[in-house]
Order: sequence, then C-alpha cells, then structure tokens
Amino acid sequence: MSKKDNEHKKELLVTKIKNGVVIDRIPPGRSLKVLSVLGIDDEYPAMVALAIKVPSKKREEKLKDVLKIAEIELTEEEKNKLGLVIPGATYNIIRDFEVYKKEELRIPQHFKGILKCQNPKCITNFREPITPEYEVISTDPLTIRCIYCERFMGEEYISQQLFGR
Ligand SMILES: [Zn+2]
Repeated sequence: MSKKDNEHKKELLVTKIKNGVVIDRIPPGRSLKVLSVLGIDDEYPAMVALAIKVPSKKREEKLKDVLKIAEIELTEEEKNKLGLVIPGATYNIIRDFEVYKKEELRIPQHFKGILKCQNPKCITNFREPITPEYEVISTDPLTIRCIYCERFMGEEYISQQLFGR
C-alpha cells in the first residue's frame, strides 16, 4: 500500500467532530473501559467513534486507542477518574471543529467513586449513597487512602478493581 493510500485510510477512520472530545494515546484496549467509566453506552444520543489498537503516528512501534465523543465535555471529576484509568492519555476539547484545549490526563490527587473501599466495614460499603472518596498518597507505586476509614490500598487492589486483573 502506498503512503498516500495509507493517509487516506486514516482520514476515513477519523471523522471530524464539531463539538466534543477526542481522547488520544489511550493504552491499547482501554477505550471500552473509558466508555464504561463515563457511563456511555448505545443509548448515548450523539456520535461515538472508537478505534482500538491503531498504530501511533508519532511512535511508530506503539499501538493506542483513540476515542471521539461528540456533544460532551468532561467534568473535573470525570477527568480525575480517567487520570486513574488511562494516565498519560491526551484529552482534547473540540469546539467548532478546532482543538479548543488540550491536556494530559494524570493520576489525580483526589477522586471519588470508581472503586470500592477495600475495608468491608467502611461506611461507604454499607450505607448508600455515600460515594467513596480517596486521596492519592503515591503514584509510583500507586497507593491511595480512603478518606472515610483511612484504609490504604495499593496498585494490585486498584488494578483488580478497575480492570479485573
Ligand atoms: Zn474506606
């Protein structure tokens, strides 16, 4: 395949959106998890374009996922959650076909929900609707602390909760 064909193919894959977000450089295979964290499913009323395991333009050898969601902008809380699930991914806000803002998603200092406290006696585990809330103590290795019961949780538990492994 010639280079030109290749370019053309890329264009077809990536439809431009007028308003919404583009999340790029997602670790391969994690885009479905991103949709579930954002609560986006087939009921979502606008366009969602999902590309799984596409070659990264800048880093040839690497694969990545790319996600485009029309008619949405993420809240700080949603960005914090995604910072935990896909740290290092790029978050672009698109307004009127242009990149209005671009930032890297990072592990947050603080976040709500997304995982259950490891302490079965924690108030967040038996008194709905208290949303669990965590403070990030260290990013490498990842360690968090529940703000309600002060239980520390490590990378293995967090990864198990987020990705089932
Ligand atoms: Zn707790």
